[in-house]
Amino acid sequence: MSAPFKTIGVIGGGQLGRMLALAGYPLGLRCVLLDPAPDSPAGQVADVITAPLDDPAALEQLAAAADVVTIEIENVSVQRLEWLQGIVPVHPPPAAVAAAQDRLLEKQLFRSLGIPTAPFVAVDSASDLEPAARALGWPVVLKLRRLGYDGRGQRIVRDAEALAAAWRELGERPCIAEGWVRFERELSLVAVRGADGALAFYPLAENVHRDGILRTTVAPYADGALQRSAERYLAAILERFDYRGVLTVEFFHTGDRLVANEMAPRVHNSGHWTIEGAETSQFANHLRAVAGWPLGSTAPRGHAAMINLLGRVPPPERLLAVPGAHLHAYGKSPRANRKVGHCTLVDADRDRLLARFRALQALVEAET
Ligand code: AMP
Repeated sequence: MSAPFKTIGVIGGGQLGRMLALAGYPLGLRCVLLDPAPDSPAGQVADVITAPLDDPAALEQLAAAADVVTIEIENVSVQRLEWLQGIVPVHPPPAAVAAAQDRLLEKQLFRSLGIPTAPFVAVDSASDLEPAARALGWPVVLKLRRLGYDGRGQRIVRDAEALAAAWRELGERPCIAEGWVRFERELSLVAVRGADGALAFYPLAENVHRDGILRTTVAPYADGALQRSAERYLAAILERFDYRGVLTVEFFHTGDRLVANEMAPRVHNSGHWTIEGAETSQFANHLRAVAGWPLGSTAPRGHAAMINLLGRVPPPERLLAVPGAHLHAYGKSPRANRKVGHCTLVDADRDRLLARFRALQALVEAET
């Protein structure tokens, strides 16, 4: 067996790491991943170093094995990433990861780049609550600045009493309070920047969340003006950090404008449809970017719809009986609301896609 062209070290070995590793095989790129779980999803398809994500010896081992190191999770120590940069190239840059880890820094970044975002106020102590609510009006969304994800670490509250209770429930830790955005839909844009500064953007995707967890994505969301705005916003972030790799921003669509909610310095669940639905998947493009290779086309192949499988994977023979269904099972044990897989449909015709997707959705909901 000949050696891979390059070895990519990946911090995190969840489903995103697994799909990065799988995308590497046809390109002759090998992934070595780092994950604390002995049975990580990536460990079933690639070499994984089993250790905490901030373990210095394990990170050194990863750096020694790899030509370049990247991440599949943003909750990694920025200090460790900065240190790692002295040993091996690290993409994306730690400064971008720092901004994405902290909802206050993230919102300040959006504001500094002229990217519309929900009105927000930092909440560092109970005495900040009342002025925040006065500035924002009800309802208020109180979010932990750090470590909240998939709807965890946030509360929507409608009066002062509930706001004080939410602050206590969130552990009296640094938060931001956000004004409520009356949005029509949620959209996201996945972009990628190459080693030479080349930019490529996937089409906007429409996302449906329930209980803060992504349920479905349908792409493209065809709106030329919104697409242009979103591309301008992501380009500004990518340039600010001299970024290399995939970046995702989630937006609220309200009226004729986009309001940025949050960014992820990595491949993203709302980009899973690109595996079958685009010329080059987000995973392949991220690897190409961090490897210093030319980016692939982000053009869609018709229309695509993706549904997350939460809790447990329904019997594959039932899912695959839906014509054209592409199943991705992550090799995870069942647990309530855990993302254990996803299914994608692609069709040249949007209405036909949506009709087929409704049948798939009904099946998934009946089986999970
Ligand atoms: P997040 O963790 O920031 O992605 O928020 C999870 C979900 O909560 C979002 O996808 C929205 O559906 C909802 N949400 C968060 N922030 C706001 C806001 N400021 N206004 C309205 N809905 C929000």
